[in-house]
Amino acid sequence: MCGIVGYIGHGNVYDILISGLKRLEYRGYDSAGVALVAESGQLNVFKTMGKVSNLEAYCAQKDTQAVLGIAHTRWATHGEPCDNNAHPHFSEDGKLAIVHNGTIENYQILKDALAEHGCNFYTETDTEVLVQLIEYIKVQNNCELIDAVREALKQVVGAYAIAVVERDNPDQIIAARKSSPLVIGIGDGETFLGSDGTPFVEYTKNVVYVKDEEIAIIRRGEPLKLVDFNNKESKVNVDQLQLSISQLEKGGYPHFMLKEIFEQPMTLTDCIRGRVVNGGEHVMLNGVFTNIDKFKNVNRIIIVACGTSWHASLLGKQLIQDMCQIAVEVEYASEFRYSNPVITDRDIVIAVSQSGETADTLAAIQIAKSKGAFVFGISNVVGSSIPRETDSGTYIHVGPEIGVASTKAFTGQVMVFTMLALSVAKLRGTLTEEQIKDFASYIVRVPELVEETLALDEKIRHLSLIYTYARNFMYLGRGYSYPVALEGALKLKEISYIHAEGYPAAEMKHGPIALIDSEMPTVIIAPKDHLYDKIVSNVQQIKSRGGSIIAIVTKGDTVIKELADHVLEVPEVPECLTPIITSVPLQLLSYYIAINKGKNVDMPRNLAKSVTVE
Ligand code: GLU
Repeated sequence: MCGIVGYIGHGNVYDILISGLKRLEYRGYDSAGVALVAESGQLNVFKTMGKVSNLEAYCAQKDTQAVLGIAHTRWATHGEPCDNNAHPHFSEDGKLAIVHNGTIENYQILKDALAEHGCNFYTETDTEVLVQLIEYIKVQNNCELIDAVREALKQVVGAYAIAVVERDNPDQIIAARKSSPLVIGIGDGETFLGSDGTPFVEYTKNVVYVKDEEIAIIRRGEPLKLVDFNNKESKVNVDQLQLSISQLEKGGYPHFMLKEIFEQPMTLTDCIRGRVVNGGEHVMLNGVFTNIDKFKNVNRIIIVACGTSWHASLLGKQLIQDMCQIAVEVEYASEFRYSNPVITDRDIVIAVSQSGETADTLAAIQIAKSKGAFVFGISNVVGSSIPRETDSGTYIHVGPEIGVASTKAFTGQVMVFTMLALSVAKLRGTLTEEQIKDFASYIVRVPELVEETLALDEKIRHLSLIYTYARNFMYLGRGYSYPVALEGALKLKEISYIHAEGYPAAEMKHGPIALIDSEMPTVIIAPKDHLYDKIVSNVQQIKSRGGSIIAIVTKGDTVIKELADHVLEVPEVPECLTPIITSVPLQLLSYYIAINKGKNVDMPRNLAKSVTVE
């Protein structure tokens, strides 16, 4: 959520910061700004509401000469989105500027205390309180910036990634993090800062992932230094950034979302590579086989996630229950963290997040760990917080997902859950070798079956024209198709702003059926599975109330084809693999409806890609 960029070096500071902010646009934001320190010891802050392009236009006539700088895209949490609340924020004496990602939970207490000492505040943000606190400590203690930042952070409750610069010091950036992402890129005589590696991927692949409660001292011409809150120096571990520029470009597609939908045959291949081997002979998910005892003796699995990852987790529950006969619960991470959960050391908690930075999921992990559970992470971003905070885990390996509405990460998560369930089933002997081989041989075919499904693109584009102006949609499914219905409805809401309800099809008659009329289209996910006959009667119930129906069915279907207004036929796969196939036409349907309505599908309003605040 929002983004931070920083740069110190011999390059064009302003250009590097702006192009870095553009790379982070996918994360979602409402305003942007830069703080530039010139050689002469001048500190200029420029900030505007709206897109980075607004900021560029605003800066066109300004003096942007600088030898170092920090920049920010804001996703407002404290104070409305406006020029004044945009970051960077100054300290009152104008000597310090800060950018901050996250929330300062005790900002009001700190603000009141500072006000008593005569501090004035000029914005509504929690962030300004922090920079004023740093200034206050610096002046009171007559100390260096690094010491003031360290002392200030000791007083802060909340989540933050920050970068601070000083008017009188054109050679230093101080940065720190707790629960919000921060990565440092080490170049040749230059150092970069980013919320992830995308702002500087073309300059360096050498990265340092700053840990929680670590402060980075970035000084021109000196090696990076990391200290903790007690000023104890920690080792600087340099990792390799696994990211390439081409992954961040649209590759000829009009939008990242469409590119990512069409990439799925490839991303699913990447996801299963090395895990389903010998053309489907074996399934080996490393994180499981390095923790055999844990998975063999597990009593219960609790999956924590948010949003689309929560939908993938519902499918994970079904897969693990079916294949491994383990009791599984799925919780919203945001509820779990405050629910006083009962967890034992024989429970496994699986935390799922595309970005690996979701604040609620990270908090849920801390609680699970504190209660003795073994915590397993599933995420996409290598080096992000969740893989580092968990006992073990696995990556979905689908490459950077830029479109805010998740597509390829969802199918990747479901695929990982499938491989996890098969791996655990093997350990526990709940499926025969034959059954495992049979599933695995289908898994290796999934990418080509997704490719086949994508051929529906043109048909779906036409279909979308009929329904663009619907005001409400219903999505129904049963069994494995129920979470797909939830995810289909979420996709439509996210990018087209049409209200959509996802429901278990049989639940419809307990209330939502009252909504059905000729104005309310229903999308039914009805592949050939053991609940097919049941869903046929749900289709009839809608038809007899005048509702129009778009049905996702298995190729060769005859019964629903007769009843539905439109059918989209998908290839046949075993029931547990249907979600990966049936979710693809729903992604395309949402995409085209949103496009028809002229919406910004890659950056929908109010949404952020990486939800690093509570
Ligand atoms: N809490 C800060 C604000 O509202 C930072 C929000 C962000 O992460 O962008 O300004």
